[in-house]
Amino acid sequence: MLQTGLMMDRPLLLSGIIEHAAAQFGDVEVVARETHGPLFRYTYAQCAARSRRLANALAGLGLKPGDAVGSIAWNNQRHLEAYYAVSGSGMVMHTCNPRLHPQQLIYIINHAEDQVVLFDATFAPLVKGIAAHCPKVRAWVCLADSEHTPLIEGVANLAVYEELLAPCSDRFAWPEFDERTAAALCYTSGTTGNPKGALYSHRSIVLNAMTICIPGALNLSSLQTVLPVVPMFHINAWCIPYAAPMAGTKLVLPGPKLDGASLYELMESERVTISAGVPTIWQGMVAHVEQHGLQFSTMRMTATGGSAMPLSLIAKFADVYNVEVRHGWGMTETTAVATMGSLQGKHADWTPQQKHALVAKQGKSTFGVEIKVVDESGATLARDGVAQGELMVRGQWIVSAYYKGGQSPLVDGWFPTGDIATIDAEGVMQIRDRAKDVIKTGGEWISSIDLESAAAAHPAVAMAAVIGVKHPKWDERPLMFVVRKPGQDVTREELLVFLAERVAKWWVPDDVVFLDALPVGGTGKVQKADLRKQYGGVFS
Ligand code: ADP
Repeated sequence: MLQTGLMMDRPLLLSGIIEHAAAQFGDVEVVARETHGPLFRYTYAQCAARSRRLANALAGLGLKPGDAVGSIAWNNQRHLEAYYAVSGSGMVMHTCNPRLHPQQLIYIINHAEDQVVLFDATFAPLVKGIAAHCPKVRAWVCLADSEHTPLIEGVANLAVYEELLAPCSDRFAWPEFDERTAAALCYTSGTTGNPKGALYSHRSIVLNAMTICIPGALNLSSLQTVLPVVPMFHINAWCIPYAAPMAGTKLVLPGPKLDGASLYELMESERVTISAGVPTIWQGMVAHVEQHGLQFSTMRMTATGGSAMPLSLIAKFADVYNVEVRHGWGMTETTAVATMGSLQGKHADWTPQQKHALVAKQGKSTFGVEIKVVDESGATLARDGVAQGELMVRGQWIVSAYYKGGQSPLVDGWFPTGDIATIDAEGVMQIRDRAKDVIKTGGEWISSIDLESAAAAHPAVAMAAVIGVKHPKWDERPLMFVVRKPGQDVTREELLVFLAERVAKWWVPDDVVFLDALPVGGTGKVQKADLRKQYGGVFS
């Protein structure tokens, strides 16, 4: 007969993380770029105290467990305090992506029924435009002191964060409740239809945060300093704001300054060892470092994901800058990281090129997540690194349903990701494309990711994107968009020859369009839907 283990049943709650940091790593620093410019610094002990004050302030506004609090904010200390105060009180921290269309922002604030919205001064114009359409919001709280809070015409229920906190005690008894209680809410970017809400539980976040601390993932510990460039307004900044205090890691938050020069300066001045961001951020960073002949004096590892990291960039980080790239995969629906890391001890003797090619894949699933690929009938495909189909995931931090979203999206208990992938015999997953981006030509598939990675290896190419364009004979043919590096030149013909040496002949794009910039969306990804809308005519 099965027996119940005789271990304490303590719930996994987010309040436990910040109190652990305060008790065990009370003097470890949190450094943040304020929205108005200067650097701010304090300790985890102070962060915990201010989180408790905010919890008191929110209660003072009449909020109750289960209520939602929105945020439209950068990565900074006040947003961090809100992460703990809101969820720790049993409320739901609803992070809003400021780069969503204002109509979508209105939709998600109303859908989540946010009672209070915390925002950074940068987004005052946005708040001005949406406030009248969000009737349930009782207070719009600017994450600043009164000096740095702008007056917003037409928004009467405006409050100042520091003034709300000022009279409040820094003692607060965090409530204890079931670890499956909702802690945070993040909506998908809604490229098709309305955004859908992923409602994370305390348990899912704590488990994910513990997982990313392990050496094979982000390797967070009190010996490291981490700078998440990934935004706290989307997918919880990959849970780094939870994992860093858990592990006692010094946390550096870049605020609104996400250009290569500002990030580099912050990494150097704060002696950052680990960072995390989408590939477009690293492209900007490398462009800056290359242009000025710089090196990283302490940065040794960067985690990347959100879109595929080009092979050439992985190689440059490793070979020129001695920075290891950890390539992972995840989506709003997977809380944060679901796969990360491919290299094992047995690869030690591989050439750098072989290692970089392995790192360019999205990696093994972390413990807690299972993966498989299926064909159109739902049958599981071979783990041979060749058979490609839709990636399905299940695990302890994968959505089971969308918030107020009706029917569950699960198929036989698995979440269909909409990504097309292969998995090899060792469990290493490689994203070939998003189902909607894959280019079907003459009955075969071309991976836009592989073509973009091949183009990115050209020394004059800053960024590349490929879409499928209708073709009368072949169904679709690839069209490539390229942004050249400043002061560099490459012609259409030169690029096509370069690509023909690297990919199958029938993969070579039919044309190349040179642009000054690619349309980049809220999470730093190229918006292929915009490119398709503008250029998706018909090839003759
Ligand atoms: P959206 O891009 O619509 O905002 P998410 O932010 O949830 O949605 O992004 C999830 C998607 O990003 C995944 O389904 C996948 O297509 C893509 N993605 C994430 N990580 C990677 C990666 N390392 N390589 C390629 N694609 C990735």
